[in-house]
Parts: sequence; structure tokens; C-alpha cells
Amino acid sequence: MHLRILGCSGGIGGANRTTSFLINDSILIDAGTGVGDLSFTALTRIEHIFLTHAHLDHIACLPMLVDTIMGSRSTPLNVYASEATLNVLKKHIFNWAVWPDFNKIPHHDAPFMRYITLDVGQSCTIEKCTITALPAVHTVPAVGYQLDSGKNSVIFSGDSVCNVAFWDIVNATDNLSHLIIETAFSNREYELANAAKHFCPLTLLEQLKNLSRPCQVLVTHLKPADSELTMQEILRDNLHLTISRLEQNQVIHF
Ligand SMILES: [Zn+2]
Ligand SMILES: [Zn+2]
Repeated sequence: MHLRILGCSGGIGGANRTTSFLINDSILIDAGTGVGDLSFTALTRIEHIFLTHAHLDHIACLPMLVDTIMGSRSTPLNVYASEATLNVLKKHIFNWAVWPDFNKIPHHDAPFMRYITLDVGQSCTIEKCTITALPAVHTVPAVGYQLDSGKNSVIFSGDSVCNVAFWDIVNATDNLSHLIIETAFSNREYELANAAKHFCPLTLLEQLKNLSRPCQVLVTHLKPADSELTMQEILRDNLHLTISRLEQNQVIHF
């Protein structure tokens, strides 16, 4: 099983793409601008989309993805998220004002897109990958995800400053191989990071003291303006963990 990083930046411009990961060919974790680089054929292979939250950098390509592939599909595209996140999509995106309600067309009983609630603690197994929603702490309702192939688990924090419940799950995951964790800002944006409920290196490394299990730590969601500085600060002050930057187009086998 493999996870391909379509986008992992906290912004756009040049080669930067926002959060989206592809499991095998058919499962997306978030639908940021990285989705737009897939070929039309690759887009038509997507069957399931799991969203961490409704912030635009994580859903930007969802409306146009549905619109692009709907004519090529005979079954609905499945969109999984917490009830709170799905409610935001229904009210603010697929509302006929911003974009058509693809959950109602062409027919109520056979729509182009269907919503599936997956709240914290709930799991769903697709193509032998068990995907579990994990607790997250952000400015809006959010989740992280555990992706368990049966052999290894990749845990993705989503946008979150994490909490005790999250670390309890991470440390109890016997087959954990990779922890993908966000850090948006450098330490000079400490106040802004706290207000936006994102990590900066100081708060990331403080939270990583809770990690009691060996794994590869991969840092995602760096804002382009300070991405180099932010990684330098993390690596400078890291004492003992295996930490590297998550790279666009990286493929993680798990
Ligand atoms: Zn966010
Ligand atoms: Zn984000």
C-alpha cells in the first residue's frame, strides 16, 4: 500500500500545493490544490475522499473534482468527514450559490456525490486500508487520521495542536511507522500560530515529548514564506527524534 503526497504546503505559488494525499489510486486524504496536478484519468479513479476539516486549503479542489469527473462515473463519489465538517460543506460550498449541490443531482437517490459521516473514533475499511478519525484541536472542528494497512500505520495529525487523547492513540499504535504532523509557522510567529491553532517549532517539539514510540516524524503544512526557517528551527532544537520534511511527490510505503 502506498501514500503519495500530492500537496503538503501551507500555501500556493510556484510548485507549492496544499494538503492532499493519495492512497493507492482511489482514496484521497484531503482535497487541497495538489489534486489539480493529477491527470484526468487519475481523477476518474478517485472513489473516496476523507476530509480533516473544511478549511479551504484542504477542500479547494473538491468542488471542481466532482464537477470534472461526474460525467465519467456511474456511482457517487464518497465524501467522508465529521458531521460538523459535512454541515459546513452543505451550507457554504454545495449550496447552489457557490457551487451546485451534487448531493441532489442528477437525482436524490442517485447523486454524483454522497456524504458519509465519520466522527472521531469511527473507522472505515477500504481496499484493506482501515482509516480511523482521530481527535484534533484546531480553530474549527477537525480530525486527524490513522491509516492502517494491516502491516504499518501512518498517522496524520491534520491541522491540529494535538492533545492528550491524540498522543494516547499514537503511543498505543503498535505498528506505527510514520507520523505526519503539521507545523505552519516559524517561532517568530509564535503568537499567530497559537491564535490559529497551528504549531510553530517551539510548540511542536514540546508536544513531541509525548511521543513514546519510535517512528519517522514528517513535518507538513509549512507556510511558504518561512518554510526553510521553520525546518531549520525544528532540526536545530530536535534532540533525539527522526524528523524530516514531508515532500511533495514523496511516496510512503506502509
Ligand atoms: Zn485549518
Ligand atoms: Zn490547513
